[in-house]
Amino acid sequence: MKKDQKQNNEKKPKDKGELRTYALTIGLILCLIASIAVYYFSSKSGSEERELPFTELIGMINEDKIEKIEMTSGSSSVTVTLKGEGEETEREKTVLVPSIQAFMEWIQEKVDKEGKQIELIQKPVNPILRISDTIFSLLPTLLLIALMIMIFKMQGLGGDSGKVYGGEDGSKPTGVKFDDIAGLDEEKDELIEIVDFLKKPNAYLEMGAKIPRGILLYGKPGTGKTLIAKAIAGEAGVPFISMSGSEFIEMFAGLGASRVRKLFDKAKKMAPCIIFIDEIDAIGSRRTSNSGSETENNQTLNQLLVEMDGFDTSETVIVLAATNRPEMLDKALLRPGRFDRQITIPAPDLLGRENILKLHSRNKKFAPDVDFRSIAGDTAGFTGAELANVLNESAILATRNRHSQITNEDIENAVKKITVGLEKTNRVISDKDKKLTAYHEAGHAVVSKFLPTQTDVKEVSIIPRGLAGGYTMYKTNEDKFYVSKTELLEKMVALMGGRAAEKIALNEISTGASNDIEVATGIAKDMLTVYGMDDSLGPISLKVDDPYELQIFGEKIIDEVGNQIQVLIDNAYLTAQKILAENMDILDKVAKALLEKEKISSEEFEEFFK
Ligand code: ATP
Repeated sequence: MKKDQKQNNEKKPKDKGELRTYALTIGLILCLIASIAVYYFSSKSGSEERELPFTELIGMINEDKIEKIEMTSGSSSVTVTLKGEGEETEREKTVLVPSIQAFMEWIQEKVDKEGKQIELIQKPVNPILRISDTIFSLLPTLLLIALMIMIFKMQGLGGDSGKVYGGEDGSKPTGVKFDDIAGLDEEKDELIEIVDFLKKPNAYLEMGAKIPRGILLYGKPGTGKTLIAKAIAGEAGVPFISMSGSEFIEMFAGLGASRVRKLFDKAKKMAPCIIFIDEIDAIGSRRTSNSGSETENNQTLNQLLVEMDGFDTSETVIVLAATNRPEMLDKALLRPGRFDRQITIPAPDLLGRENILKLHSRNKKFAPDVDFRSIAGDTAGFTGAELANVLNESAILATRNRHSQITNEDIENAVKKITVGLEKTNRVISDKDKKLTAYHEAGHAVVSKFLPTQTDVKEVSIIPRGLAGGYTMYKTNEDKFYVSKTELLEKMVALMGGRAAEKIALNEISTGASNDIEVATGIAKDMLTVYGMDDSLGPISLKVDDPYELQIFGEKIIDEVGNQIQVLIDNAYLTAQKILAENMDILDKVAKALLEKEKISSEEFEEFFK
């Protein structure tokens, strides 16, 4: 039930300018709603009792009930005063007249020929009233236009074109130096010449040297790509303009391309400087011939290619871009003169992790027995960002537990919190569920003990953490570059150990194995389609960009893959059941110990095998 490690993929906060634009837009929308409401209600309020239908007016004229009729030129309604007692204003009514011209002729005739006693008043239009009326009626339209302009601006017509560090506008420099990056020594060595070029471009240009225009940094999220790009700017003392690929992609066609243009124009004015485009895959993914949003993407990417080609050799602007999905990128981006240099930023090795931990331990208080080498050993596969997160979490846990210094226990708990989630000690669990979890976890632990390639158990627990009901943690003792077929097969057996224990000990299976089954099926699929490890299929790769391409292999091969995945999983499940059936006594003991103590350490676990 072990969960995959979480990736530190936080979104960067919006900058102030963008927040201000959002606030303005919301304000404007509210104004629009308010003004429409005011207009609607003011034209409605009290008007009903003051209105008189036209047909009724005709009847009242014929019955001599009207004292006065006032007409304002240009208006389609008239004000009539009824005969009677009381204030004149209270006897006034407004009447909407279908044709003023015809009505005027008719009423004039009534007065002249029939001698009706009606006072007829014709007023010229009140210019002030006329203007305010026009403005009022146009207000919603004006506000709507203003809103559109605002949205357009926000989308990039006049909007942001990259966040600047260390520019002449007084913005703060990145402040990052190579010393702030632990490990990555070879990568730093490779990039040092870029720093030198940015510092004294003329020396290189006079020598006729051509400096790479674009450098692509590949690596998992959190491996330090942004950090290294900032450090180049920091070391060279040049401005750093940063923008994320997703910021180019907009609702309105053509704006992505316009933002690219603006970004490069800005950079040229600030040269020597660095442009950093994070998540370049958002704009740099392979161009397609499709329509809609993809055409917009294509336009943005084309503009980027145009800008990169259009640099003058004397323009000392270096474009750094980062991605964790290099396979997605359009090949045109990697051609000479564009991102022709690619640097892989790997997850740190044992020594790298130790150094990153030491670097991030500055300004934190640790107990004297805290050993960064041993923490590094327990965190194989962690990225720099995750390690920084471990230390931050451990400081938070230490404060919460009122420790005067960060202890080994705080750090261990932080690692668990990051890998499997927060321990949920307060959750009420039924005895039946507890028993099921105890056998499930004991199953993983006992099975893996009999699999030579699997690492030793570090801790088994039935206290829920994150989404998992319990977990079995394994020791990580070395950084591996390659994984053997035997190891993958045995990993699948260990994963199936949970379900096998439920079946054998309780004659029941549960949903608790869903994650194990997902991971095991993924391994089986990769073994067949990526690593070419199946004897009958042979070493072929079925990894394709478009499922359509699979057709070239023919249905027989595709069916065979499906069958073999099933065979691999079945075998793993059977092996796990066999191991447990032969060691039922140990399985029972471990499950009972878990039910009693909820958590057992590696030493306690090993005792059962003596
Ligand atoms: P993303 O792909 O998510 O943008 P990234 O590879 O650009 O990630 P950064 O943003 O550079 O990663 O790293 C995040 C944080 O992790 C850094 O601010 C730093 O605190 C820490 N970090 C990563 N690698 C290292 C390292 N080698 N040395 C020191 N700190 C590191």
